[in-house]
Amino acid sequence: MKSSYQNLIIAAALCTCAAIGLQSSLAQQTREVSFRKSNQASKRDIGSAKILDGEVYIYHIFVSDPHSHWAEGEVATVKRKLNEAYSFITRQSRKHGKRINFVDDFSGFVSLDRRVPVDAHADPEWTEYTIDKATGGSSVQLVQKLREQSKIKSIVICLHVNKAALSYNLAFYKNVSQKYQAERMICFSAYPDGRETSSATYAHEVLHLFGAGDLYFPYDNDGRRKSHAARLFPNDVMYRVDYNIDSLNVGPFTAYRVGWTDSLDPKYSGFED
Ligand SMILES: [Zn+2]
Repeated sequence: MKSSYQNLIIAAALCTCAAIGLQSSLAQQTREVSFRKSNQASKRDIGSAKILDGEVYIYHIFVSDPHSHWAEGEVATVKRKLNEAYSFITRQSRKHGKRINFVDDFSGFVSLDRRVPVDAHADPEWTEYTIDKATGGSSVQLVQKLREQSKIKSIVICLHVNKAALSYNLAFYKNVSQKYQAERMICFSAYPDGRETSSATYAHEVLHLFGAGDLYFPYDNDGRRKSHAARLFPNDVMYRVDYNIDSLNVGPFTAYRVGWTDSLDPKYSGFED
């Protein structure tokens, strides 16, 4: 199991942005993990969330642990941000002739007797444990059941944690253990410095699960690709997030990665790993 575990760890992507001033903490965290990659080509069109078009079923689980709980008003705030994120993605998709309809399922709540890790590189097994506690089965079983009930192909799982940490995702790709083909994102309510998580971060994580990669290249050893992306896609939501989501967009590289275009312009091929 070691190999699948190692691969899975690589799947976890740190998600933050220059615009909200988290660069220094990100640099500290990525220094020791420079062997990781942020933009695996094989993340496209694979897993429980393949091409981002049509109906998308999002199964939400609000996770409490001995140190954090959800109040009703806080859940309402998350729902508002999710709706802003969905509107943003839907508007962007229309430029490519796509019609997306997000279907939320808020039936999942769970209270754990163990601490939820805030480190994006923690053993992701805790997410399986949490999904099992909330639904009585594995993530793959949950996706299968939801597909049968809803007739919707694209299913993603969102674990919400009321803590200050960097939100991240476990997008599926080649060589990752099959049990993680049920794609999931872990959304914390606030950034590590305590500021509240923006709706753009929710959009960023959803796009990741459909194959988008980070355009700020947190795992590169130098800043070349990040600088290049900054010139080409300064407002791409995979390059940066912003409290004003209307200042952002989905650029041509990300559009290809989530399946809104069918081929990648060769001038962008260097952004894939
Ligand atoms: Zn990211």
